[in-house]
Amino acid sequence: MIYLDHQATTPTDPAVLAAMTEASERHFANPASPHRPGVEAFQLVEKARVSVARSLGARKSEIYFTSGATEANNLAIKGIATRGSGHVITTAVEHKSVLDCCALLPGVDVTVLPVDREGRVSAQAVADNLRDDTVLVSVMLANNETGTIQPVREIARITRQAGVPLHSDATQGAGYLDLADLGVDLLSLSGHKIYGPKGVGALYVSNDLTDMGAVSPILHGGGQERGLRAGTLNTAGIVGLGAAVELAVAGRADETRRLAELRDLFLDELSVEFDLNSGTGPGFLPHALNISLRGVDAQQLLPALADVAVSTGSACNSTSQRPSHVLTAMGLPPARIKSSIRLSFGRFTTEREAVQAARSLTAAARSADLEAA
Ligand code: PMP
Repeated sequence: MIYLDHQATTPTDPAVLAAMTEASERHFANPASPHRPGVEAFQLVEKARVSVARSLGARKSEIYFTSGATEANNLAIKGIATRGSGHVITTAVEHKSVLDCCALLPGVDVTVLPVDREGRVSAQAVADNLRDDTVLVSVMLANNETGTIQPVREIARITRQAGVPLHSDATQGAGYLDLADLGVDLLSLSGHKIYGPKGVGALYVSNDLTDMGAVSPILHGGGQERGLRAGTLNTAGIVGLGAAVELAVAGRADETRRLAELRDLFLDELSVEFDLNSGTGPGFLPHALNISLRGVDAQQLLPALADVAVSTGSACNSTSQRPSHVLTAMGLPPARIKSSIRLSFGRFTTEREAVQAARSLTAAARSADLEAA
């Protein structure tokens, strides 16, 4: 099987796995325990915290480990917009863990900004919608269905001037984009999108915000993570996240170049009629493609595509029969959404696989097309 669904999840890098195995076997003690094995486990956690902080140009004290980006997004949003009033700004193309979270904030008014045909929000729209009672702006760094990169740096300049905290869900941008100096106040990460483990992530919260007591915990218990995220730390997972971040940062420049080449090679080999729903320029992630195969129902195509793993939308939404909220927000017609597939290349994808995947997809699309006719 040729795996081209790296935006859904990535395989665990062998080096990450080795670090996690060692942590599981040798450092099982509770990192909060004061005895020596506990202190050793704590030191491993702190080493990972430094790796994550460094990748963000942040301080170690600004990193809070969570169970993934879903929890990090929930903590950022619910942790700030808890006062039962106020206003939050987000965008129509966010992950559901942001959109649903915003929609469920009691007493909080939410502005969901539209996007253009490429799935991009304008920084000016953020500026135009800021109000005196705006308590948070949440704009993702890169989209999980299209790879569209949002103008987060530009938005950060606006929110900073207005004194409003900016959160960015960087789950999909991590590993491909430089996350240091984005200018955001909160940022979410997930291990399993960067060749690390599932069930672990992190939230960056600037010390300025925590010093003001601006973020409240959403999980209560043992007071871990300086009171912001209770629960025994997942030592092996956190070690895996730290190792994954180190690898991602070290390989980023070469990797992004190689992935863009694989993507272009695939597009060159694809010989069916298609429309590009994402882009291949600098405003898009280098490994991501969202295409609509003309006249083909994507749901029917997948069973015919025996040797390539691709997606018809985000994996998180794949059980819902509703059309993609991202492509809908971009204004794509329903027929084009119905024929859309998402492909994403990865660290272990070879040129041969990219070519073979294009050939298999071409053959499957032709047979699905014939059946439809
Ligand atoms: N945000 C984005 C943009 C994502 O792609 C995902 C994963 N699909 C998440 C948040 C949720 O991450 P996790 O699986 O770590 O909860």
